[in-house]
This record gives sequence, structure tokens and C-alpha cells, in this order.
Amino acid sequence: MDFQLTKLQLMTRSSIREFVRKEVLPLAQELDEKAEFPWKNYEQAVDLGVMDMTLPEDIGGSGTDFLSFIIAIEEFAHGSAALANSIALTEMQVHLLHDYATKDQQQKFIPRLIGAEILGAVALDETLAQAVSAFPMKAVSDGDDYIVSGKVRYIPNAPLADMAIAFAQTGDDKISAFIVEKATAGFSVGNTEHMMGQRSLPLGELTMKDVKVSVANRLGNEGDGTVMINACLSRMRIATAAVAVGITQAALEEASKYSKQRIQFGQTLSNFEATQNKIADIAAGAEAARLLVYQAAFLMDQHKKADKQSSIAKVFASDLAVEACKEAVQIHGGYGYIKDYPVERFYRDALFTRVYNQTNEAQRFTIAQLVFHEIK
Ligand SMILES: Cc1cc2nc3c(=O)[nH]c(=O)nc-3n(C[C@H](O)[C@H](O)[C@H](O)COP(=O)(O)OP(=O)(O)OC[C@H]3O[C@@H](n4cnc5c(N)ncnc54)[C@H](O)[C@@H]3O)c2cc1C
Repeated sequence: MDFQLTKLQLMTRSSIREFVRKEVLPLAQELDEKAEFPWKNYEQAVDLGVMDMTLPEDIGGSGTDFLSFIIAIEEFAHGSAALANSIALTEMQVHLLHDYATKDQQQKFIPRLIGAEILGAVALDETLAQAVSAFPMKAVSDGDDYIVSGKVRYIPNAPLADMAIAFAQTGDDKISAFIVEKATAGFSVGNTEHMMGQRSLPLGELTMKDVKVSVANRLGNEGDGTVMINACLSRMRIATAAVAVGITQAALEEASKYSKQRIQFGQTLSNFEATQNKIADIAAGAEAARLLVYQAAFLMDQHKKADKQSSIAKVFASDLAVEACKEAVQIHGGYGYIKDYPVERFYRDALFTRVYNQTNEAQRFTIAQLVFHEIK
């Protein structure tokens, strides 16, 4: 076992950290207030080579490990959780296209996605535990086409999406994926939801009304959808957990700095044992969560099964982020409740991570089933 990050991983961390302090933090609060997509920072992330970091070199990427990407996500989330999530969403789509798309599909979509020329959404139903027949999108084969219909709610990026990877039921027990461009007749997106946190990440409904999708635009084989969704969710869960760690670290730093500077009863807040206990608990939790996240990403890099570890990392890190931010707000006293201080945004952003990529209750159910299976 080696707990040492590689030179490249350390370099990734320090370069993204510096970028975030300089470019992301000054904009994050305002973009959150206005619920505006962080286009400038997103495009800058393209220039930093983050979107295609994990793509193999032979198709234009840098062939970096997933753990390095996850370290980058943690750092982006330190400044803006919404920006970090939007980057993770693009990486996940590019990864899907790399694994399942035909050469033509790859050439058509990957360069535009990683260059921020287009934004994509993934229209899937997270609650796969339900029967396939309850899947909200249906696709019926019609010669060289499929006719896709249905509606999915709460899809990140949907309001701004130029294309979607849409998952639909294609047979009695099959789920298949399709690439659908915005200009296709019958494709529409709903209004942007007004979210409590991570407000710079647009969330909305995506509807397909008798959309004709050519067989050439099917992603992978018919029936590959379930495996793809599980792979997507596993990958995104690790990214969500990394976002939660980034938020926790930001809350820890703000609370620690504030407690050293605020004088009450003739001494700084940091002198009070009650404050020290809060800071120590957040710091200990952050270390533990980070290790869980890195372990799950490491398993991905080893092409090993990471279902349980990604779920555990997501549940632990997101619950911790909410608790850490709550205490960070408390350490700020009344000021913590005011928008002039970033901890209130961190708290709102943290709550997102407990619902996103399946609720923590659903994730706990999954973890328990895996444990019951392991312990006979
Ligand atoms: C920011 C954001 C992004 C999202 N992205 C997507 C997406 O990309 N794709 C997608 O399909 N959906 C997405 N969703 C929707 C999300 O998957 C659902 O909101 C979530 O699954 C919960 O479903 P619900 O809102 O209907 O709540 P409900 O199912 O009504 O659940 C309410 C509460 O009860 C708990 N609960 C429900 N059933 C049980 C049970 N059997 N046992 C114990 N507790 C239970 C839940 O965990 C939750 O705490 C997103 C939501 C948000 C807020």
C-alpha cells in the first residue's frame, strides 16, 4: 500500500488549486446568486486540459489516471461545486463515448464536448431499482430508426444541452442508449429549476416526443444501457464524493480562519474548546472521506469493481460535507447566516451531494445488499 500521490497527481492538485484561487473563487458567489453557468471558468478548464485528461492519447486525450482527475474535481469544488460537477458530467459523457461509441460518433462528438463547443446532458433514470418497464423513456424500432418518446426530470445541463445521451427502454427488459442532438424534431428541454445550491449548474426536464433517431445514433448495442448507466453512476458517485470533500475542505479553511480572527470575551474563538472540537471533527472527517474517495478512484484505475467503495465514499463524504458546513456556519455565529460569508453557500451546495447520483438512503440500501451478499 502506498499513500503517496504521484508527482503528476501532486502537480495536478497544486495547479488546479492555484487556478481556483485566482479565477474561480472571485466569480463563484455572484454566479451562484444569478444562477448562471460558469462559462468563463468552464472554458478555462478546457484550456487546462481537464476535460480530456482521462481520454487515451490515441484519441486526443492525455491518458491520465482517473485519480488525478478526481483530485482536480476536489480542487474545483473547493471554489465552486457547480463548476466541478459540470466538468465531471462532461468527463463522464466523454468516457461513455470512448467506451461505446463508433469511430464516427467519437469523431463527431468528443472533440466538440472536450472543447466546450457543445454541452451535453445524460438523460437517465437514476432509480434503476424500479422495473425496466417503469423506465420513463421508450424507444421503438422502426426500420433504420428508433422512435424515442418520454420525459426525464431533474437532468443536469438539460436547459443548455446541445445534445443528450438518452437512455430508453427498447425491449421487454432492455435499456439502450441514443445520441440525440438538440436540433432533432421532437427534442425539447424544460425550464431551469430554481435550486437551493449549486445554482450555477442548470437542472431541468428533457422531453422526447416521437423523436426519430437513426440506428447509426444508437450508442453501443441494444441492451447495453443498464451496464452503461451503472458505470456512469459509479464514476459520477466518486466525482460527487470528491465534490463533497472539496466543499468540506473549503468549509474547514473558512471556519478555521474565521475562528482565529474573531475576538469574543477577550480571546479568539479558536481558543474555545467547543470551537476546537468542531474544527478537529471536520478535519478528521475530511481526511477519512478523502481516503475513501481516492480508494474508489484507485480501484477504477485498476479496472476493479468499485461499486461498494464508490457508494460508501459518496454516502460518507456527502453526509460529512453537510455536517461540516453546518458547523462551519455555526462557528461563524450570526455572520454565518449572511451571504457575505461563503459558508452559507457551502452548506447549500453540500446538501446537493446527498441527493445527487441517487439519494444516500438509496445508496445505503445498495451498500447493505452488497454487504449481505458478501457476509453469508
Ligand atoms: C440536483 C439533482 C440532480 C438530479 N439528477 C438526476 C438525474 O440525472 N437523473 C435522474 O433520473 N434523476 C435525477 N435527479 C432526481 C433524483 O434522482 C430524485 O430526486 C431522487 O431519486 C429522489 O426521488 P424523489 O425526489 O422522487 O424523492 P422520493 O423518492 O419521494 O424520496 C423522498 C425521500 O424518501 C427517501 N426514500 C424513498 N424511498 C425510500 C425507501 N424505499 N427507503 C428509504 N427511504 C426512501 C429518499 O431517499 C428521500 O430521502 C436529480 C435530483 C437533483 C436534486
